[in-house]
Amino acid sequence: MTPVERDLVIVGGGPAGLTAGIYAARGRLDAVLLEAKPLTGGQVATTDVVENYPGFPEPLSGAELMDKMRRQAERFGLKITTAEVTKVIPQNGKYLLEGAKTSYLAKAAIIATGTESRKLGVPGEKEYWGMGVTTCATCDGPLYRGKPVAVVGGGDSAVKEAVYLTNFAGVVYIIHRRDKLRAEKVIQEQALAHEKIEVVWDTVVTEILGSADAGLTGLRLKNVKTGEEAELAVDGVFLYVGVTANTDLVKDLVELDDAGLIITDNEMRANAPGIFAAGDCRSKAFKQVATAVGEGAAAAFSAQEYITGGPYAGG
Ligand code: NAP
Repeated sequence: MTPVERDLVIVGGGPAGLTAGIYAARGRLDAVLLEAKPLTGGQVATTDVVENYPGFPEPLSGAELMDKMRRQAERFGLKITTAEVTKVIPQNGKYLLEGAKTSYLAKAAIIATGTESRKLGVPGEKEYWGMGVTTCATCDGPLYRGKPVAVVGGGDSAVKEAVYLTNFAGVVYIIHRRDKLRAEKVIQEQALAHEKIEVVWDTVVTEILGSADAGLTGLRLKNVKTGEEAELAVDGVFLYVGVTANTDLVKDLVELDDAGLIITDNEMRANAPGIFAAGDCRSKAFKQVATAVGEGAAAAFSAQEYITGGPYAGG
């Protein structure tokens, strides 16, 4: 298969990738953005409401925000193609971005592949996956009108999505393994004050329960402080126990941290010349849409400087 030649390939169509695309297109780079699935928009596209992205005083859905970013990128002529990149291989001073169907040969690449939801790895999870166990409240929340559901985790995603689920569910249990949430304070306040939300502290899920006839019926829980076990009847469980990095494609090429995230300098350069990273797949402390877009812009500046040998000329 002859690879398609481009100066710059951006891998990933979330906030970081699309912002890199906007800047690359305005800089008139010969660039293409590849995303594994059509119109995904990254993890934020599955968030029901985004309240903290500047410039939008009224909340909007993650899907809506990503649609706006995508249309903005396309308005400047960015080419967006559905193609999954499985490996990035150095080739005569360029990079071969290998895919199952199409491969690309590029002078530079911006990796903005983000993360994906982690699973619990407990009995019952596989059996009831997509049939009661899910990682998307926006997609599956409406199925649980008036019913009891559980959210597992204590981070921004868990607590935010628990509040969203109160629009449908009769009661929402937040099962958290510690006695403190790590979510943003403003989100915690909403959840802790909500009459439909009950937090089950210091507790982990040890099994997802159900039967062939009844489907998912509940959770087996264990209090990590007392060792006490209990069963909780729920119809659905939403897992928000963190994320893993989508960086397999560059694991043999660039330096990763212990969590598998790409290490870069302040200009988003990874330690292979011409490879840049932006957004949640990059090793960093804060994972927000607002930080991802800044990194996407910086990665595009750096890529343009690398490709042209001169300063960034877009803007
Ligand atoms: P996260 O911040 O890593 O939180 C994961 C949560 O799951 C933590 O509370 C953790 O407990 C818990 N956990 C991890 N493994 C577990 C296990 N095996 N069993 C039970 N609980 C487990 O992940 P996230 O909430 O998906 O957020 C990812 C990133 O995106 C974060 O940087 C977050 O700030 C950002 N984000 C921001 C927003 C926003 O609106 N601002 C929304 C979503 C995500 P411990 O607390 O004990 O570690």
